[in-house]
Amino acid sequence: MKYYILFGPPGAGKGTQAKFIVEKFNLMHISTGDLLRKEMKEGTPLGLKAKELIENGNLVPDEVVVGMIKSTFANNKNVEGFLLDGFPRTTAQAEMLDKMLQEQNEGVDKVISLAIKDSTIFERIAKRAEIEGRKDDADPATIQNRIDTYHQKTEPLIDFYKKQNKYFEIPGEQTIEEVFDCICKTISK
Ligand code: AMP
Repeated sequence: MKYYILFGPPGAGKGTQAKFIVEKFNLMHISTGDLLRKEMKEGTPLGLKAKELIENGNLVPDEVVVGMIKSTFANNKNVEGFLLDGFPRTTAQAEMLDKMLQEQNEGVDKVISLAIKDSTIFERIAKRAEIEGRKDDADPATIQNRIDTYHQKTEPLIDFYKKQNKYFEIPGEQTIEEVFDCICKTISK
């Protein structure tokens, strides 16, 4: 089983690239953000609990997202591999993922990171707000909070995975096609 992580700040293009990657490499896409938005839309207890945190640009508790990942793995035993998008986002999540995979004699294969400047994040998210209508994309203070949260809580994972020799960074400000080409080369090498 293959386990790839698509890493990067909000607005880096993870969702866009994930669609192409899963098709080419026959992987199952798991986006914790998409799963949480589905829970919110359906008004489940989990969705109701997550709503305020998400709409203010804060992370939901580690146990919540780890639980979602665990049950998705358990319910999809017959796939060739997974592409994790937007997970892990904290060191605790990364450690729990490692533990979960080690218990099955598996491990993260590669972390593919899309790097973009903070100013580009703002431009991209403003554009996405017009298309997708996400509440957490609409307000500049919320976007700033998500960027700050990324720097404080998620960026430390770069060193975490560099130490495991699994971290591969791709310039995310190229065209969609150029970014995808770099991703394919990184996965295939
Ligand atoms: P995304 O679609 O990946 O930008 O995620 C949207 C929002 O969902 C984030 O701003 C967080 O509030 C929440 N979220 C998604 N993934 C995670 C995660 N791995 N850990 C904590 N919160 C998450």
